[in-house]
Amino acid sequence: MPGRLDRKDLAKYPFLKEAQEWVSGRTGSLPDFLSSNYGRIAARHAVERIQEAMEGGRPPAPGPERLDPDREVYAYAIARVLASCTRDRLLMDRLARYEAERASRYLADELPEKHALVAEGVGMPAEAGDLPVVQYVELASHLKDDCWRLVNREVEEGRVTLAEGDLSDLTGERIRVLLLSQLPLPVPPAICELLSPLTAEITAAHQQYLLREFGSVKEGAFPPCIRALTLAITSGANLSHSGRFALTAFLHNIGMNPLQIMELFARAPDFDAGKTQYQVEHISGRSGTEYTAPSCATMRTHGICTGRDSLCTRVSHPLSYYRARKRMGKPGTDSPDGAPDQPAGPGHGGDKGQDGEQVGSARVPGKSQGKHEQESDKDEQACRSGEDIQ
Ligand code: SF4
Repeated sequence: MPGRLDRKDLAKYPFLKEAQEWVSGRTGSLPDFLSSNYGRIAARHAVERIQEAMEGGRPPAPGPERLDPDREVYAYAIARVLASCTRDRLLMDRLARYEAERASRYLADELPEKHALVAEGVGMPAEAGDLPVVQYVELASHLKDDCWRLVNREVEEGRVTLAEGDLSDLTGERIRVLLLSQLPLPVPPAICELLSPLTAEITAAHQQYLLREFGSVKEGAFPPCIRALTLAITSGANLSHSGRFALTAFLHNIGMNPLQIMELFARAPDFDAGKTQYQVEHISGRSGTEYTAPSCATMRTHGICTGRDSLCTRVSHPLSYYRARKRMGKPGTDSPDGAPDQPAGPGHGGDKGQDGEQVGSARVPGKSQGKHEQESDKDEQACRSGEDIQ
């Protein structure tokens, strides 16, 4: 048992290497374990963990007295194997968020010494009044509030000064980034085959969840960046590769089938059916890899985050914006063309794929940013690192 971490700690922070060493020293081969009674029970808990992750919301964080270390650590490990077998990037992203949020809830109640052990376990300083700029930017670039932006920070001799509470928030983000970077795990096909009844169950549940979430396509609920890209296409602007990629992946992710996406691109005066069909089908998964629309941070990097409004301050992904706007039932008033809602294509509504590509940057002509930026400034609040609104 590791130094100052006890079994309950491993249940709270199952991603720490001590937790993985602990379980790996107690089980035989993975196929043998999964075929055992306890393995089957643990796998069932893993499925429940993934279902909680895909539904979003706050993960449960029962008190230590109610934690079963064996169950938590095994369920964590098997959930990662299951998510890897589905090859569903959105599911992996949600699982990483879930685990980070769960750990953050426990971390918030830890004494400084325990907090420091966990932070060090994920490569963060145990305690810090500042961080090197590079490390800070890596972590803070995914946090949505403007207070995390480097321009709003005090930087001295290459280090960013942290306020009280910042290190906890950044540690939570570090956990998310770290766990996501490890997925998918290189799971042997025979193991995925063994788990295929469970992965089929997860994939079906995820499809149902996404269809419920996204439902019919509402152009009025598109985020400003996607509306700008749509407008640019319609008005004949020559979109950069990053713009075309973001627009196509977004439309695919919300459930439009390739034909429906082609119809939107066909509004462009210079529409090239053959070229567009190839690009759309490639991004939609014909090549065997489906892509996820880029996050807001990536959109900003490529200069295609444009027209931010107040809702943008509460999301870190255009898909979160869309989901939230639809749920509010108050779609934007400046829908690009007032086109009617379109039903999601059969078998779609999923976000399988690979987040973002390395693409060139270009600013897409679209809406003026002035008014929206003013709204954004007005809504600026104290730093918070919570998840996107769901
Ligand atoms: S903040 Fe995100 S959702 Fe809003 S315009 Fe920029 S990229 Fe789009």
